[in-house]
Amino acid sequence: MLAISPDIWTIRAMLVGRVYVLRDADGLTLVDAGLWGRGGRILEALDRDGYAPESVRRVIVTHHDLDHVGGLDTVLHATRAELIASPVTMQRLRRGTRALARESRTVTDGMILRDILGGLAVIETPGHRQGHISLWQPERGVLIAGDAVMTGALSRVAPWLAHDRSQLAHDLDRLSRLAPQLVLPGHGGVLRRGAGVWLSSRAARIRGAY
Ligand SMILES: [Zn+2]
Repeated sequence: MLAISPDIWTIRAMLVGRVYVLRDADGLTLVDAGLWGRGGRILEALDRDGYAPESVRRVIVTHHDLDHVGGLDTVLHATRAELIASPVTMQRLRRGTRALARESRTVTDGMILRDILGGLAVIETPGHRQGHISLWQPERGVLIAGDAVMTGALSRVAPWLAHDRSQLAHDLDRLSRLAPQLVLPGHGGVLRRGAGVWLSSRAARIRGAY
């Protein structure tokens, strides 16, 4: 795994879609689960760094796209972790997937996940996909954006991958007002310095494109 900060990592070799690993005293939280067939890669990456499947306590799913939930069944089967997602995403996950989770927690805008990184706020960002959520750690200025933010190769086409482009622009404005110090996108590399400006300029560009 590649360290982004002492308690946040990303798993490489996922082909498409970022998987983040967050560390707390009681164990690990995964954010998203990659493409279909990549669940094994996630478990291997954890194992290489000395983490058994049981160390994964929770899996947060930002949204129900195949490049984010493909490995979910494998990961939940091995870890029996708690599943955390919005009501829309939870509904779209197959019954079987949910049954693999030890527990599930349905989260909505403004809720605080107090057991993760000292408190992660849930921000609904439905522009990319209905039921999409981002996660915000205010004291550290860390934004886990999911596909509300794509950098790198997919950055240009992000508006065309969105369920609702004007809502996506609204979401990006809302995220920019948080003035994040570190943005972990659903695709591409992290943003650090000037992330808030980057987000608001993306919103403006999306609005100007049509
Ligand atoms: Zn994606």
